[in-house]
Formats: sequence, C-alpha cells, structure tokens
Amino acid sequence: MKKRVIILGAGISGLTAAWYLSRTGIPLDITLLEKTSRAGGWLHTDHTTGFHFEKGPRTFKVDKCPSIMRLIAELNLHEDVIWSEARPHHRYLWLNGELHRFPTNPISFLLSPITKGFLRALVNEWRRPPKIGDETVWEFVLRRYNYDVARLFFDPMVVGIFGGDIRKISVKACFPRLKAWEEQWGSVTKGFYRHLKEKKNAPKFSLDVPVVPMSAIFSFRGGMEQLCQSLVSQIPAAIHYNRAAEAIAFEDNQVIVKTEKGPLEADILFCALPLKETAQLFEKYTPETSRELLKIHSEGLAVVNFGYDASVLPVQGFGYLTPTYAHEEILGVVFDSSVFTDHNRQPQETRLTIKMEDTGNTEEAYIEAALRGIRRHLNISQMPQAISFKRAARAIPQYGVGHLEKMGEVLSRFRTQFPRCHFVGNYLQGVSVDQCVQRAKQAVDEWATNSS
Ligand SMILES: Cc1cc2nc3c(=O)[nH]c(=O)nc-3n(C[C@H](O)[C@H](O)[C@H](O)COP(=O)(O)OP(=O)(O)OC[C@H]3O[C@@H](n4cnc5c(N)ncnc54)[C@H](O)[C@@H]3O)c2cc1C
Repeated sequence: MKKRVIILGAGISGLTAAWYLSRTGIPLDITLLEKTSRAGGWLHTDHTTGFHFEKGPRTFKVDKCPSIMRLIAELNLHEDVIWSEARPHHRYLWLNGELHRFPTNPISFLLSPITKGFLRALVNEWRRPPKIGDETVWEFVLRRYNYDVARLFFDPMVVGIFGGDIRKISVKACFPRLKAWEEQWGSVTKGFYRHLKEKKNAPKFSLDVPVVPMSAIFSFRGGMEQLCQSLVSQIPAAIHYNRAAEAIAFEDNQVIVKTEKGPLEADILFCALPLKETAQLFEKYTPETSRELLKIHSEGLAVVNFGYDASVLPVQGFGYLTPTYAHEEILGVVFDSSVFTDHNRQPQETRLTIKMEDTGNTEEAYIEAALRGIRRHLNISQMPQAISFKRAARAIPQYGVGHLEKMGEVLSRFRTQFPRCHFVGNYLQGVSVDQCVQRAKQAVDEWATNSS
C-alpha cells in the first residue's frame, strides 16, 4: 500500500523534498499544501510589466551551487540555462560619495580607496593566533584582519548576501570556509593557499555542464521561477494552492493537517514552512523549542525593480553595494540588464533591482527612496517605463553565534518527539537556495534509509 506524504509549503525546499521523495522508489502518495496561489516561495519572476524582473534570488554560481547543478541535470533543464557574460562581473562600492570598482588586479588593489588599507592586514594575518569556536563575522574579521577589511569588504558582503548585520551573524554559519581554514591551518591565508593548491588539481569545469567554468553565473531562460515550474511539472504529486496548514494533530500513527477546507491525513509529514510558521504550527506540542525558534530574527527586504527602454547606466557591471556606516537608504543595486542580456527585450534596455531594508514604509515611499538613491549614486534622473515592488517580510533568518549547533539540537529533539515529521527550510542549515535544496535532499535520504 502507498504511504501518504504531506509536504507543507511549495517553496524551493518543499518542491525539492517532493522531487526526491518521488525518486526514492518507495510507493508514495504525495500531496503539497501551499498557502498562496503560486509555487516557488521567494523564487519569483515577474513578467507582468513586459520587462523581466526578479523579486527574489537572481543569480546562481556554478561552484557555489552543486545541489542546484545536480537538480538541473535530473530535471533535464540544461537547455534552458542561460549564462552571464564575463565582462559585467565588476562590482562597485559606494564610498565617500562616489562609486568605486572593487579591484581586479594587484595594482588596483594597492591603489583603490577600498583596499589600500588591506595589504598590511593580509600580510600579518598568518601570524595571528587562531581561535577555536564561533563568533560574529565582525569579531572574526577584526581579530584576523583589521577595521578597514571589516567595514569596507565584509560589511557590504554580509548586507548583499544575508541582508544582515556583520556585528550579529555567525562566522561559522555564514563563512564556514574561512572559519574552517583558521581552525585547521591556524590562518585563513594558509588555508587559502592550500585551497588554491587543491584547486589546481580540481576540475576547472562543471561535471554537469562541461563547457562552463566553475566561476560561471547562471539563471534560466524563464528566470529563477523556471526551476520551480520545472519541478511542479515533473513531480508526480497533487499540489493544493490557496490551502494553508492551520494546525496539526497526531492520532493513531497518523498526522492530521487541519486546513480551512477540511483535514488531511498522512503517514509522513515534511514541513517546508518558513521559520515562524513552523514554530507556530508545532508550538502546542513543543512550546520551549518553538520559543527558541521564534527568538531568531528574520530580516526583511524591500525590492524595487525599474525597467527603462533606454541605456541609462553610467557604468557596466554586476551592481553596487553601500556599506552600513554610509547610512544610505539603498543597500545595493543589481544591474540585471548587464548581468543577463538574454533577458533583455532589446539591446538598449536597462533593468535594475534596488534592495532596501524593510522598515515598514509604504510602497510609494520605497519607490521614491529608490529613485532618490539611483539619482545620487548613478546620476539617473529619468523616470523608468516600468516599476515593480515587493516587500519580502521576514525573508532571511539571521544566523547568530552558535546557530548551527542550536539547529542541530532542535532537529534532534524534533526527530525524537515527532518521528513522523521531517523538517526542511532556510532556517536550518543555510539560507541560500542551494543549501535549501541540499537540506531537502538530505532529509529525504535520511527518511528513505530509515524506511527501507
Ligand atoms: C529578496 C531575496 C533575495 C534573495 N537572493 C538570494 C540569492 O541571490 N541567492 C540565494 O541562494 N538565495 C537568495 N535568497 C534566499 C532564498 O531565496 C531563500 O532562502 C529560499 O528561497 C527559501 O526557500 P524555502 O522553500 O525554504 O522557503 P520559502 O521560499 O519561504 O517557501 C515557503 C513556502 O511556504 C508557504 N507557506 C507559508 N505558510 C504556509 C502554511 N501555513 N501552509 C502552507 N504553505 C505555507 C509560503 O507561501 C511559501 O511558498 C533571497 C531571498 C530574498 C527574499
């Protein structure tokens, strides 16, 4: 007899769990429950204005996305992958009232106002004593490098990747490789050189797409959401949209999921909900763990997309970031039309994504702030032909010091208390799409191994 599986949430975590469950070879009846009218969660491509706009993630990098690369191969999506050209990868920083390009060669490294204070820090790093254990990224960088490296390099990077505060997030969770190099080799520099040596012998090209270098950046012809649409069309599962899980109960070796349209019964449950929704759903059965989860702050972002029928950018590249200490309204801007020219409708088009902190402003106020920001930073004063806005509230869980250990304990408590339930999602082992895919596969593999 087929086992009944219910998956809560049709973001990338829930869809990937469904995909790998369907490939276990175990006879399963899979149902996905999704609160909204669409699958994909934060992966959201919008064509309603005629321009190609991304409202969540917009790029993947081959060497950082082994799990997505495997998924692409399994879904036979190769032909729909599009690659960014090498030229536009220049990144900029808004510094002292001007945009400065991050250096790309040793001379510009020594002369650039961004990095000219870095050399001494890099030279001295290998002499500094190592420290075992977790700490904030800020503490780590100050201890191993210096204030300039922390505020001009790591701070904007943390804002760009995690939308977060360098003084609060964990180095072990957010930059695991740097921490591992320090702990293993006594210094990040030594670890980096070992890594370069290993890289010499490692494949230069992806095993899944052999003509593409490991550093290549990609998206899909239909945008990020195509990955989710491809999963939806290939997963042998029933997806119920506009059907939120409101409560759960455990009866006679079954999990009952209560929804507005009536209850559903399952033998196994995969919970792929965001952090807060997961904590609230299980609160009745595990109040202490739920309280612990609810203490984790999730950062929100306001995302504004502008589309122009003309070429309006004064510089080419990937985009720019602003360091926290500059107190700019804009956190960063991605030059989408330069990154993926395949998404442009015509060669002169400009598409920009402006990210801001979610401070609860109105849509109009965010759009005004975005217009003000690009006027100041890029000298663009003309009005865009298309505007799109999304408030990504509570989007990115912030991994504080000790987060990974804490989540390890939470998962182990969940395993004992809810043997029929499995947990995936971006608050557990990594916020990136690749880490969500990896976590979902791992959870399914663990379940399948224990079931056989
Ligand atoms: C603006 C932005 C930019 C980002 N950029 C990048 C990037 O460049 N690279 C990268 O790797 N990552 C990026 N991320 C992070 C990444 O997109 C997310 O961490 C990841 O998509 C989370 O996927 P998920 O499936 O775990 O959660 P979600 O996408 O949140 O999916 C959860 C799903 O559950 C549904 N749901 C909620 N409550 C219920 C309920 N009660 N019942 C049923 N369904 C429910 C939701 O509607 C949603 O569809 C970005 C995120 C944002 C917001």
